[in-house]
Amino acid sequence: MITIEKALELVLLHSSKGVKTKEISLSDGLEYVLASDVCSEIDMPPFRQSAMDGYAVRIGETNRYKVIGEIQAGDNSTFLLNKGDAVRIFTGAPVPDTADAVMMQEKVNIEGDTVTIEAPLKIMMNIRPKGEQIKKGTIALPKGTSVKAAHIGFLTGLGITTLQVAEKPTIAVVVTGNELIQAGQELPFGKIYESNSAMLVATLKEFGYCNVQVISIKDDYGSTKKILATTIENFDVVIVTGGVSVGDYDFVGKALNAIGVDEIFHKVKQKPGKPLFFGKKEETAIFGLPGNPAAALTCFYVYVYPFLKKYEGAEDAHLLTISQPLLHHYTVIGGDRAQFLKAKIQGDGVGILGAQSSAMLSAFGTANALVFLPENSTELLKGEIVKTMLLPN
Ligand code: AMP
Ligand code: MG
Repeated sequence: MITIEKALELVLLHSSKGVKTKEISLSDGLEYVLASDVCSEIDMPPFRQSAMDGYAVRIGETNRYKVIGEIQAGDNSTFLLNKGDAVRIFTGAPVPDTADAVMMQEKVNIEGDTVTIEAPLKIMMNIRPKGEQIKKGTIALPKGTSVKAAHIGFLTGLGITTLQVAEKPTIAVVVTGNELIQAGQELPFGKIYESNSAMLVATLKEFGYCNVQVISIKDDYGSTKKILATTIENFDVVIVTGGVSVGDYDFVGKALNAIGVDEIFHKVKQKPGKPLFFGKKEETAIFGLPGNPAAALTCFYVYVYPFLKKYEGAEDAHLLTISQPLLHHYTVIGGDRAQFLKAKIQGDGVGILGAQSSAMLSAFGTANALVFLPENSTELLKGEIVKTMLLPN
């Protein structure tokens, strides 16, 4: 059994493979990882721009200015201002080169074509310089960025329409268990509704992995071997849930071994997720997650998510970890293994939620973080600082 740190190190070590890249349209870019730097082809803003509705002025001797014209947003007209001249101007409009400042309209007094400026003027006030946000030819977003909605807005504003991104891996989610039936049917005694695939498909979708195939296997050694062998041949990443533990009908480990998967580790000293398996066959990575839904989701966030991010070349593959004061006293149960506890950051700290059982998903509905407790933790005092991993999205 290896430590969490070692397991994570091994997962990341085996995830970089010089992934293929492709060009996509920017509007489809959400959650893709940039395969090259994106440079701006324009200055932004492209011209000196007014940040206010008001008056552009060339600073004169008195606070009285003569209004010589008007420039609306979108106009391409300009004016030559002499000292003491003003131009009526609106937010987003081009400021004439001869204007020194823009005074907001709330701070002027208008009489006919004369305005009296009632607040101190400073050179360049309320003028956004050309290229203030970004200069033509410089990097707007570096390679390795995971594209979010704000990036799409930013790049669209620079006139960019396509991106070079890492291709996403093809992913199979394989569920195992004779007890599993599909929701929508009557529930016979002894069976449960299969829910891991729906949970993992939805989680993967949140990170932009939309083409995920779900495959089901019964607890039978022969079919487990056969189905896993073809799945591994056809996908870049295979995520199996259930059947990875030590029960008589847990065939996943044995089957993977028999079909020539290199076991990188099997079993991690952690709670939940002790039976976690990770292996590789040629370029395909295989994760064996525990069948218990909350354990499977925890292992997904802690191991599979960083693997996928690194696979695509993301700059920051780890879950963001911060230090937080604990909001209450907590007695650790089963402290012989390091633990990930479903938790909620709120107010000035983090609270560990109830219903921590691996079989119960309810706490994940409220959680926005996992508190990490190292091995041999016992009593935690209110206010004690704990390592807190933020759940992505
Ligand atoms: P296993 O890891 O196969 O021993 O399964 C551990 C527990 O998780 C058992 O109670 C299973 O019934 C349950 N389980 C396994 N796979 C799923 C699944 N796909 N959906 C919901 N529960 C599952
Ligand atoms: Mg099982």
